[in-house]
Amino acid sequence: MKFKSEEVQKGLDLIHPTLKSLCFIADEFCKRLGHEITLTETMSDPEKDKKLGRVSSSHSEGRAVDIRTNDLPKEVVTKLCEFLNTKYKDMGAISIKSKRRITAVFHDNGNGPHIHMQLGKDYIDSISNKVKWTYPKHEVKNGRSSKSPK
Ligand SMILES: [Zn+2]
Repeated sequence: MKFKSEEVQKGLDLIHPTLKSLCFIADEFCKRLGHEITLTETMSDPEKDKKLGRVSSSHSEGRAVDIRTNDLPKEVVTKLCEFLNTKYKDMGAISIKSKRRITAVFHDNGNGPHIHMQLGKDYIDSISNKVKWTYPKHEVKNGRSSKSPK
């Protein structure tokens, strides 16, 4: 598994552990087809979401990641989405359009085509006590960030 940046790599440890596992599963699936996935987004924050024009809070809640697709053959992208939406369908977020659960969405929201892999809000709420994971506190995260401004 590759990462767009060091920041994206660090964010892998901040997302929901189930989603983190799903990243490795997706990577393993692609590796069997001779490819490796690159994550372009993991943990985000509301400020960044606003800047990028994201309508969903899924990234800042640690329940979504983005997978690069322009370095994967089209059939691998299709197979990966089919696999995730079949085997891990019940974990997915409910689509506003179809009202059905969807775990992997191949789309272009203005920032280039990619796979948006997401867990449902209810799914996270129901298991968060078991895995002792809570939504990250952005104030704390920003407070200890030593990143220099761009
Ligand atoms: Zn996304």
